[in-house]
Amino acid sequence: MSASDTAGLKVTLYKRCLRDMDDNGIAASGSNAIICPLCWKEARLDELTIEHVIPGSVGGTLKTLTCKKCNNDQGSRIDSHLSNYMRTQDRFSGNKPMKAKMTVAGYPTSVDIDWLKGRKDIRIIGQATNPKNSLAIQRLFSEGKNPPLEFTIPYGFSDDGIRLAILRCAYLSVLSTSGYSLLINPAMGKIRGRFHDPDLKVPCIRPLTVFVKGMKEEVGDYQHCYCNGHVDRVPFLFVLLFLRTSVTKCVGAFLPMPSDASDTFFELMGQVEKENTSLSIVAASGNWLCFPAALSKNR
Ligand SMILES: [Zn+2]
Repeated sequence: MSASDTAGLKVTLYKRCLRDMDDNGIAASGSNAIICPLCWKEARLDELTIEHVIPGSVGGTLKTLTCKKCNNDQGSRIDSHLSNYMRTQDRFSGNKPMKAKMTVAGYPTSVDIDWLKGRKDIRIIGQATNPKNSLAIQRLFSEGKNPPLEFTIPYGFSDDGIRLAILRCAYLSVLSTSGYSLLINPAMGKIRGRFHDPDLKVPCIRPLTVFVKGMKEEVGDYQHCYCNGHVDRVPFLFVLLFLRTSVTKCVGAFLPMPSDASDTFFELMGQVEKENTSLSIVAASGNWLCFPAALSKNR
């Protein structure tokens, strides 16, 4: 994207934000300022950046506006979990070699592992390994010794980290399709709190996020889909997100919808996870709203 395209898109998104704020009765005190959808603080056009709804490193092309601080701070701290998660999926699928540290009888080396079906190929990376160690290992194997191998594979993500990143993508996806209308719900403010403070434990993210297994490739180029449902009559929005590198993974998040009982939403979702069957989650199946990249990228 050229600099003038980027500037044009920024202005388009900015005008859309101003309109959305007006429609939802949100006002900024400064002129030519919008409310950053992540920190809910005012930001002028020059303080805003274009942010991917789903990180570009995992195939996202939809864009929205957030303030520079939120984009920089949360991009590296939160989104990196998602990028590293997908990189690992790529490598376990055998599409790219997996980088690892291997110690052979106490000699450290750097290796590439090809994760193939029925077999794993391991290659010592000459440039990243002390030649003396390579020679010593070669000798051990040529003498018919059976040296012990130890591997360390740096994943660069945690379960909690990926889940927070999924929730953030789902939140931004709601912004990109519905504007501020669903974000002004106070329960959404509690979710925003989690993006800012890594020490916060409430609301618990785990029951709000899912890894969807068994999705087929025929999801086209959809980046996200929605459906509505309710848990014990408290409404929720379920956002499905498609992450793409050389593999496609589908993840999802439950977000609160405005309702008189939305403050009990997190409690109910926590119970669903703990007790599994004691509450009924009803999804309005067959009522998916899908967003192909081609249609929504300029929204
Ligand atoms: Zn912000």
